Amino acid sequence: MDPSVKPGDDFFEYANGDWIKRTEIPPDRGRVSVFSILNDLSNKRMAGLIEEAVKANAPVGSTTRKIADLYNAFMDEAGIEAKGLAPLRPHLEAIAEIRDKHELARALGESLRSDVDALNNTNFHTANLFGLWVAPGFNDSEHYAPYLMQGGLELPDRQYYLADSDRMRDLRTKYQAHVSSMLKLAGFTDTDARAQRIVELEQAIAEKHLTLAENEDIQKANNPWKQADFAANAPGLDWAEYFHGAGLSSQVSFIVWQPTAFAGESALVASTSLETWKDWLAFHLIEAHAAVLPKAFADEHFAFFGKTLGGTPQQRPRWQRGVATVNERLGDAVGQIYAQRYFSPEAKAQVEAMVANIIAAFRRRIEALSWMNPATKTEAQAKLTTLYVGIGYPETWRDYSAYEVEADDMFGNLWRGRLFDYHRDVARLGHAVDRKEWSMLPQTVNAVNLPLQNALSFPAAILQPPFFDPLAPAAVNYGAIGSVIGHEISHTFDSEGSAFDSKGRVRDWWTPEDFAHFKGTTAKLAAQYDTYKPFPDLSVNGKQTLGENIADNAGISAAYDGYRASLDGKPAPTQDGFSGDQQFFIAFGQNYGSKTREDTLRQQVMTDPHSPSEFRADMVRNVDAWYPAFNVKTGEKLYLTPAERVQIW
Ligand SMILES: [Zn+2]
Repeated sequence: MDPSVKPGDDFFEYANGDWIKRTEIPPDRGRVSVFSILNDLSNKRMAGLIEEAVKANAPVGSTTRKIADLYNAFMDEAGIEAKGLAPLRPHLEAIAEIRDKHELARALGESLRSDVDALNNTNFHTANLFGLWVAPGFNDSEHYAPYLMQGGLELPDRQYYLADSDRMRDLRTKYQAHVSSMLKLAGFTDTDARAQRIVELEQAIAEKHLTLAENEDIQKANNPWKQADFAANAPGLDWAEYFHGAGLSSQVSFIVWQPTAFAGESALVASTSLETWKDWLAFHLIEAHAAVLPKAFADEHFAFFGKTLGGTPQQRPRWQRGVATVNERLGDAVGQIYAQRYFSPEAKAQVEAMVANIIAAFRRRIEALSWMNPATKTEAQAKLTTLYVGIGYPETWRDYSAYEVEADDMFGNLWRGRLFDYHRDVARLGHAVDRKEWSMLPQTVNAVNLPLQNALSFPAAILQPPFFDPLAPAAVNYGAIGSVIGHEISHTFDSEGSAFDSKGRVRDWWTPEDFAHFKGTTAKLAAQYDTYKPFPDLSVNGKQTLGENIADNAGISAAYDGYRASLDGKPAPTQDGFSGDQQFFIAFGQNYGSKTREDTLRQQVMTDPHSPSEFRADMVRNVDAWYPAFNVKTGEKLYLTPAERVQIW
């Protein structure tokens, strides 16, 4: 903490200031935070588990052996170096042999992977032409449906191609040089001209893309297209051949998230030359596998995406990237061991009790809302009744028997791993939804709301100090993990969650007056966040971050109620001179303790639905109880009049 700062002037500094002063961002990171510190711990533990798997010398085909072989294959830098371009070559040759747009469509279809996720882990980015997300259907939440999303860009967002600032123009110049370098490494000639055409094509694609704020609008995303509709709605690409390549010929209907982007990108397939598309395909192939190609590729990839784009001076040590690779490809297999080893049944029971208290607090808040009609209240309560909360780890684990891993073929392991995930998802289309399924690993330091399943997951790796400590005072646990729990529950009712009913269906369960009130109040919160300026030339986007800000707003309120209820009428014990309420709010503010490099922070402001940490901590100014707790007065920077404070639930 920094007690020299007035809590009412800068609560983030007050709660974290001394730590921020003492902490340096490691050279291989864009940011250091409470989350990244716990991530390091999780990684160390994972490395230990992987080492055990390596030592076990388990039989070929067993999951333990796969963990060991995958890690060893990634760590075998000499082997990767010795193979050189060989693993890449057959794929580059296949691209070189594409003779017409018909074959191009098939190749584009073959590149489709399940690499996007609109609502759970919110990832709208794929460098492939389009991305697939398999999830419960918008219009039939009992069965898995295919969602198709815009793609085709290597840079994180359309703004990087279109924004008219010196900074962005400079990044684009450097990006084009990077494209040229990657092609050169892969043996292409005339790489400057090719790079220019590739970047121009991506720029044209970016123009067709929707913005992140637009992507988050569920009502605009629910566009069921029959396979036969694609040719009429988005002419240009040979869709029959595309779906053939993707192995989706028999899939009758899809949900198209951004129809205008599909029309635009499809038209570009027709209007842009075959040679440019082939270069684009080759470059995207190389970039997608840079991590498992010889060092020169991995280094060039990092030099642009890590250093230039993220401002991070140094690449992570190889073993950490190896752990991340095992997590990505065999995450459930390691996660199962992790959960057994590092999450006790006692901790699980204690968190379950907190969840119950916070859900009860939400119920009381809904019941007490003066503006909400009884019919809407009933529907909101129904969502809380059917909510499934997973604590620590999932009830079932993924089966990896069909995933082939070889100790001397890292390129193939990555290629087959992405295909394994894709085939697994495609095989689920039309099948009954498992509402208890997780989309996050137990060893991940995060929490998630799954709106189409009306479910939440709190992985084991976040249920530890400083977020949760079985021995900490209730005030601290509720302020820290409690507000995270409240945050995730609130996603059930935020700008996205409020579009789904208790069964996860897209259904308008609001009366028009109630929804108008909700919209009005949340618009006030969006306006509040629009005023935050992390840089003189860059503001927080209140609309892009609205869902997460609503969740922070409701989360802290419900956690506070849950905390007060947990006292059971007894006075809160003070600690180190801090009252119970003070402990609660400080713990909340310390959730967001972090330090971020400028380039990384700029990227976050442009591409992340979460506000920068500092402004997340400032959410306290909307909570009435924060004012007396720290004696916050008119004139202090964070002070809001009672009428200006935004209270949504
Ligand atoms: Zn969230």
